[in-house]
Amino acid sequence: MKVLIIGGVAGGATAAARLRRIDENAEIILFERGEYVSYANCGLPYYIGGTIAERDRLFVQTADGFINRFNIDIRLQSEVVSISPDNKTINVKNLLTGETYTESYDKLIMSTGAEPLKLPIPGIDNPKIFTLRNVPDTDAIKNYIEQHKPKRAVVMGAGFIGLEMAENLHEAGLEVNIVEMSDQVMAPLDFSMATIVHQHLKEKNINLWLKERVTGFEPNGNHLNVLLDGGKQIETDMVICSVGVRPEKQLAESAGLKIGSLGGIWVNEYMQTSDANIYAVGDAVEVINPLTNTPALIPLAGPANKQARIVANNISEGNKYTYKGTIGTSIAKVFDLTVAAAGITGKVLKRMNVNYISSYTHSSSHAGYYPGALPLSIKIVFAPQTGQLYGAQVVGYDGVDKRIEMMAQVIQNKGTIYDLTELEQAYAPPFSSAKDPVNIAGFVAENIINGKMKILHWRDITTIDPAKDFLLDVRTAYEYNLNHINGAVNIPVDELRNRLNEIPSNKRIIIYCAIGLRGYLAYRILAQKGFENIHNLSGGFKTYSNVTCEQSNYQKLNSNNKMQNTKQQDNNNTKTIKVDACGLACPGPITQLKKHFDLLNEGERLEVKSTDIAFSKDAESWCNITGALLVEQKTEAGIISVTVEKVCKAKDKTATHNGDDKTIIVFSDDLDKALASFVIANGIAATGKKVSLFFTFWGLNVIKKREKPSVKKDFFGKMFGMMLPANSRKLSLSKMNMGGMGSQMMRLIMKKKNIDSLEALIQQAVDSGVEMIACNMSMDVMGVKKEELLDNVQLGGVASYLERAEKSNMSLFI
Ligand SMILES: Cc1cc2nc3c(=O)[nH]c(=O)nc-3n(C[C@H](O)[C@H](O)[C@H](O)COP(=O)(O)OP(=O)(O)OC[C@H]3O[C@@H](n4cnc5c(N)ncnc54)[C@H](O)[C@@H]3O)c2cc1C
Repeated sequence: MKVLIIGGVAGGATAAARLRRIDENAEIILFERGEYVSYANCGLPYYIGGTIAERDRLFVQTADGFINRFNIDIRLQSEVVSISPDNKTINVKNLLTGETYTESYDKLIMSTGAEPLKLPIPGIDNPKIFTLRNVPDTDAIKNYIEQHKPKRAVVMGAGFIGLEMAENLHEAGLEVNIVEMSDQVMAPLDFSMATIVHQHLKEKNINLWLKERVTGFEPNGNHLNVLLDGGKQIETDMVICSVGVRPEKQLAESAGLKIGSLGGIWVNEYMQTSDANIYAVGDAVEVINPLTNTPALIPLAGPANKQARIVANNISEGNKYTYKGTIGTSIAKVFDLTVAAAGITGKVLKRMNVNYISSYTHSSSHAGYYPGALPLSIKIVFAPQTGQLYGAQVVGYDGVDKRIEMMAQVIQNKGTIYDLTELEQAYAPPFSSAKDPVNIAGFVAENIINGKMKILHWRDITTIDPAKDFLLDVRTAYEYNLNHINGAVNIPVDELRNRLNEIPSNKRIIIYCAIGLRGYLAYRILAQKGFENIHNLSGGFKTYSNVTCEQSNYQKLNSNNKMQNTKQQDNNNTKTIKVDACGLACPGPITQLKKHFDLLNEGERLEVKSTDIAFSKDAESWCNITGALLVEQKTEAGIISVTVEKVCKAKDKTATHNGDDKTIIVFSDDLDKALASFVIANGIAATGKKVSLFFTFWGLNVIKKREKPSVKKDFFGKMFGMMLPANSRKLSLSKMNMGGMGSQMMRLIMKKKNIDSLEALIQQAVDSGVEMIACNMSMDVMGVKKEELLDNVQLGGVASYLERAEKSNMSLFI
């Protein structure tokens, strides 16, 4: 039998070797257009970055090695220019001599791969613009870097190859900008999971330009301007164009072979083209996604190799072996992160109009108590009725590969989320947890399907209507004060059973915690206490804050960078206490920070290491609140270390305020005066200044809750309670009140004129961090209890007021 193979890298080389192993007598000739066969194109970016130091390591097998070991006729720099299926011949052009000749075959295998897309935009042929597919491309990029020493690079397109190149160019010392047209990197992920990658890229000082389209390139002296929509441009020294690949199908098309609907070579389950003597494999072909039963282009090395083996078997034994299709299991390293996906994403299911549920879980790579546990986030999508697992995405720093592989098996075998709960894995603390993250993803999904927990997603938060929904933050007050979703009321889960009366029974209750677990506990408490319309935010505040924060960062340097620019220089003599809070979930790390910070003497430093992704942001807010000096923040291999210093009191004073604060004493409970107080306070807050409202005597009525818990009061307390306005809605005007008609009229006119109500102004003040302090002494006199006041109100005495007045340059008495 005479077998010809076109293409000598992944699919072609594998088919040739397998064929020889099965059939020692077959005549096998392999034609490769390029100079090399059987090299590791997946390793090319790492050679450019220097991780793979020697170029020779890229070659899995040389042509000579192939010839000697497999007795295969390898013809390099030989381009197959046409196929004649009727005559069973091909025409080959020797690229060295220009000579063309014909070769006959019994069977032909095409593994022609894919070509990188080059967009037809002005200036695309500039020599500073590169694509990466093969060894010559790699040499060109590497040589350019060595000869021209570029300082900046733009990577166009943020798929796997683009991100690998971004990392490796960064490793090679270049400042890297990534420009991506869509709102996220890595198409095989859903947006929510991609946001974890966005944050990591920013931490690594990569400039991320999302939702930006490159419209052209213009030479600029020794540099190149990358032109973007809307007149923006990036000056750079080189560009990597990695906007995708398309199947090399021209040869097949001109031979009259059938081309599939997505533009790849059509093949049947035996990997046979529309001509029975021609097989095709790899990036050039269109396969079936067994989950959707629709055609798919999956340009990955694993499928190419498996298909090549099947084709070799079928050629030597007759068509016995079938290819079952590809669910697109993929993985990539993006700096310290590993990013992996298998099956179908939520966005694709949505496009296909398939009903599905998605669920997020955040776990650790192994038992939290064993050193080195790192965060691992999972998103799964599954069928609401049967629980069939459609797809999984895993992003983390360690153990991502084994989790995606476990889930890929379940997806491939059309298994369910129930299978995830039962999957057995090898457990010891350094490797996993007794409940592995994959099991946890299954448990949570099972709770959802069985109706033990209704969930909603981060997108739903934007549709919350305070009139109908009650947003409940069940994290600790500490976590809540650091950051929370606007409008949320904080009742820590441990206090929930005693504070049920603060939860309205006539509203939908939306619970959230840091990652979803405490939210689930709170959910179960409320559900069993008779509350009905409850939902838990899937993925908790971690997912919500990731997706709602700024995704691109090109307008400003990221916080790490800022910090490096402004931080005090490290002083080697400074005593630094080190605390390892890795593996602790929020609020563990910040609690450790506070606990150990309190023990420091002035001038001493504390370094806390954490694997909680939110720790960076939390620590920044914590420093802003406490006045501690944030010396340094860095992330390495998924471990965030934050160094803070206890500054001396004199320094502290100037560091935290500059005498520019404002205080307002709210003494009156007249509606008009209360309105004025909050308008002024919100105005001040909008200018970024700190403002404290001190509510005393009648002013306390302004900040009373509308629905108050029942509290024990003495006789005078009860009398005051009866005589005074019950809350802000019951306040009267200082003039023209006319038995309440005046205040109603005032509210009506304000509404008509689109002016915020007093209650809306109060909420705005809460949201913008206006400090509200209730006078302890007045509360005592008037029998007002803390439980009756709004949640965000702190208690304080005259000293609290004076302390703030000292630091302010404006004090109003209203
Ligand atoms: C930078 C990079 C990183 C990658 N990383 C990964 C990864 O991490 N994981 C993964 O799964 N996949 C990865 N891939 C994809 C993987 O390399 C491909 O899926 C795989 O190589 C496809 O094999 P193939 O045989 O179809 O095509 P190729 O390996 O591209 O081989 C096709 C060959 O055919 C030759 N050819 C084409 N037409 C002719 C002709 N007319 N005559 C003669 N020769 C011809 C070409 O010169 C080429 O050498 C990566 C690809 C690149 C470029």
